[in-house]
Amino acid sequence: MLQIYNTLSRQKEIFRPLHEGHVGMYVCGPTVYGDAHLGHARPAITFDLLYRYLQHLGYKVRYVRNITDVGHLEHDADEGEDKIAKKARLEQLEPMEVVQYFTNRYHRDMGLLNVLPPSIEPHASGHIIEQIAFVQKIMDKGYAYVSNGSVYMDVEKYAKDYPYGKLSGRNLEDIVTETRELDGQQEKKHSFDFALWKKAAPEHIMHWPSPWSEGFPGWHMECSAMGTKYLGEEFDIHGGGMDLMFPHHEAEIAQSCAALGKESVRYWMHNNMITIAGKKMGKSYNNFITLEQFFAGKHELLAQPFTPMTIRFFILMAHYRSTVDFSNDALVAAEKGLARLTEAYQRLMKIKASATSTVEIGNLRERCQEAMDDDLNSPIVISHLFDSARAINTVFDGKGTISETDLEELRAIWKTYAMDILGLQLDGAQDAGAGMDAYKGAVDMLLNMRLEAKRNKDWGTSDKIRNALTELGFTIKDTKDGFEWSI
Ligand code: ZN
Repeated sequence: MLQIYNTLSRQKEIFRPLHEGHVGMYVCGPTVYGDAHLGHARPAITFDLLYRYLQHLGYKVRYVRNITDVGHLEHDADEGEDKIAKKARLEQLEPMEVVQYFTNRYHRDMGLLNVLPPSIEPHASGHIIEQIAFVQKIMDKGYAYVSNGSVYMDVEKYAKDYPYGKLSGRNLEDIVTETRELDGQQEKKHSFDFALWKKAAPEHIMHWPSPWSEGFPGWHMECSAMGTKYLGEEFDIHGGGMDLMFPHHEAEIAQSCAALGKESVRYWMHNNMITIAGKKMGKSYNNFITLEQFFAGKHELLAQPFTPMTIRFFILMAHYRSTVDFSNDALVAAEKGLARLTEAYQRLMKIKASATSTVEIGNLRERCQEAMDDDLNSPIVISHLFDSARAINTVFDGKGTISETDLEELRAIWKTYAMDILGLQLDGAQDAGAGMDAYKGAVDMLLNMRLEAKRNKDWGTSDKIRNALTELGFTIKDTKDGFEWSI
């Protein structure tokens, strides 16, 4: 029986879906105004693990992960400039160009990390009508007020009828002391009220008509509106990083209770954070390392490049509710561990069966399942795989034998747990990707040599390279600043 830790009840609970055989899960996705970094990889991989495991258990899963492309303001989501609009202004682009550009790059990075795409990936900007309707419901129930064209949640009134702050374990007094006074707060009755709809300032480029003003939805609104649109007024799982617990998820709970009179989410799940050399990732520390920088080894904190699979393995080596501290040494250890697993997997595919087994598989499958059922304990699954790698190596080195039945079972377990559930590509799929890069690099190198030959008026060499590549099926085009090639 799968048990997951519910942040709301602060304990592990047996997972029982609302509708038999089906699971609805919603995970807060990225705000697409910059490249994905290690902090984005962790929730993506954590909930990918859950998505994969639920499917392994036979559930039909509808997995919704949104793209935040409007309304996420710079200060606590509620004040300051819209993050996307700011990037668009600085780069002189349409906001949707910024959104598309970083969404494409996010997809590319997630693909490299072998994170499966969600079933639905709704954009906040594509669901303005639903968000306005949701705000209207809260207005109708009397839990929101209009001030200067913006709509705010009346948290004090709400807190009289529902417990506000229970997810993050706060009460209103804690929240008052935590909330900073910022511009525009004179519009609010209390500093802890949060925006459901914001009137757009004249210079604000992303805005839509609404009953209250030309404006845009508050950041928390999109997840309530899109979660319930695609998963129903009540659904099973809502996930995200711990940093989203307050105010974002607390606000989501308040919005659904206020609008629908009930909580939408049965199980709240939160992954812990990643620190870098013991420090939180943050602008002030200047320690955001993008995934692309990891893959290329291009950041001053990195001693070398790390493959996407190493990053995935590094994240799975810790339980999702523990903190993970990044360091070069930890990543190098992950790289070595992954190499050992990959070697064992490849040996497992090569070894031959004998009449009898001298190595023990024991109850490996049960132990792996037990670990996954225990709130997705991926580090324990990994340690079980390492245990069985010893048996594989014994047979491979000719110091033991394995029977046909045991060999088949062992291969099936590795395929299920290492590849399908942990999502580790141990079969060289990632190497094939790296092979592509090497091949492209080699063609570029040859054409750069030809360019140099041309500059030196060495027409013989230049033609020789060109003709050889043409003969192999390449089309080479000389351009103003170099060359282009295709096959
Ligand atoms: Zn969200």
